[in-house]
Amino acid sequence: MYENQEGGFSATEAEDLPIGAIVPFSTVDWPGKLAAVCFLRGCPWRCPYCQNRIFWGPDAPRDQFSSLVALLEARRGLLDGVVFSGGEPTLAPSLPAAVRAVREMGFEVGLHTAGIFPERVAQIVPDLSWVGLDIKAPWDSYDNVTKAQGTGALARRTLEILLEAGVDLECRTTWHPSLVSQEDLVTIGTTLASYGVKHWAIQAYRSAGTDGSLPDIHVFRSDVPEAAQNAVPHFEFRGL
Ligand code: SF4
Repeated sequence: MYENQEGGFSATEAEDLPIGAIVPFSTVDWPGKLAAVCFLRGCPWRCPYCQNRIFWGPDAPRDQFSSLVALLEARRGLLDGVVFSGGEPTLAPSLPAAVRAVREMGFEVGLHTAGIFPERVAQIVPDLSWVGLDIKAPWDSYDNVTKAQGTGALARRTLEILLEAGVDLECRTTWHPSLVSQEDLVTIGTTLASYGVKHWAIQAYRSAGTDGSLPDIHVFRSDVPEAAQNAVPHFEFRGL
């Protein structure tokens, strides 16, 4: 079982984690790792392409931290770690306790985040082995995607924290041309390069699970300007 150690978090805090769903085994949510994925409820942003909006509201599905602990106990030696995803996992005040608990069980911890709560990221980053950070738009047009105020500054601060910590990092941009233009992709890529980001993935918009408010169009790698594809050392396009 997990237990509290010198870090000051308690198992009781971890049990408050607002889990929406647990995927026991994934090969795609943490590059190169076999991981369980723990989806947390809630997100203050409203990206029109969100595929996890099921976790936004009061009717979101629910599960227990004890279920995650039981899964990990049963999968020792089979799983590398746990990815906390969402929704926005850094919304949860109990996330640091949960991260510590998983680490104390001997598993690695990864994080999917849009960078909405930089200070919580700073709190947990010593315990993280890998982070997938959404970069949704150029900083000055972020709010057009997130439908919230002042969001680019939050994502930028989170990026700075992660780079300063030196954690293994992948930046990811979901691309729908009505929200992010080809010129915007070049701006994002060159901005990330200026920060020293090594890994950047563009993920083609997919309509499944969204609210259907965006035109259902398909984009391809060949639609991404060369200047964007060549901006960072390791570029990946994730299409249909
Ligand atoms: S930040 Fe992530 S979880 Fe929140 S609305 Fe946007 S895509 Fe969905």
